[in-house]
Amino acid sequence: MNMKQTLPIVTLPDIRLRELSTPLALEHILEPKMQRFAEEMVVTMYDDDGIGLAAPQVGRNIRLIVIGKDALVEQATLPFDIKTDAIFFNPEITEYSWKSEIEEEGCLSVPGLAGLVERHTKISVSAILRDGTAVKFSARDYFARVLQHEIDHLNGILFIDRAKETWKHDRKHTKAV
Ligand code: ZN
Repeated sequence: MNMKQTLPIVTLPDIRLRELSTPLALEHILEPKMQRFAEEMVVTMYDDDGIGLAAPQVGRNIRLIVIGKDALVEQATLPFDIKTDAIFFNPEITEYSWKSEIEEEGCLSVPGLAGLVERHTKISVSAILRDGTAVKFSARDYFARVLQHEIDHLNGILFIDRAKETWKHDRKHTKAV
């Protein structure tokens, strides 16, 4: 039997959420151990009813994020299969729109809180896919928001640092990232 494990979620005040994460070399990305870890992150994300997860949230300070396929709908053409959950290594935002939008966010690593966060509505991103392919793409709206939230995690930044306003929240209604 090959059951995929879920990983324990790191929450505040764990210091690993505040550290700068390290980029991964191609040979590490392609290692079966790393591929399995990324898959376990996807399983963990769904297990905790999230739509995105960054490696520091499961205690590893490496530049790896996963995003659920539900966040990929209604995007312009993307250079990967939108029917599969996205796994991005070394994601980087290369361009931001002037336009921004304020919406509610929550975070699996900040349980019990939600807040209003201003994010750019459109961004350009470069990343490496799990098969080692380097891609560039643009993301907008919800996908862009989730990407900005997850990439912030890789830089030790949490949504509460950016929130205009936060409140106690029992996270039954909003998807946390
Ligand atoms: Zn988060």
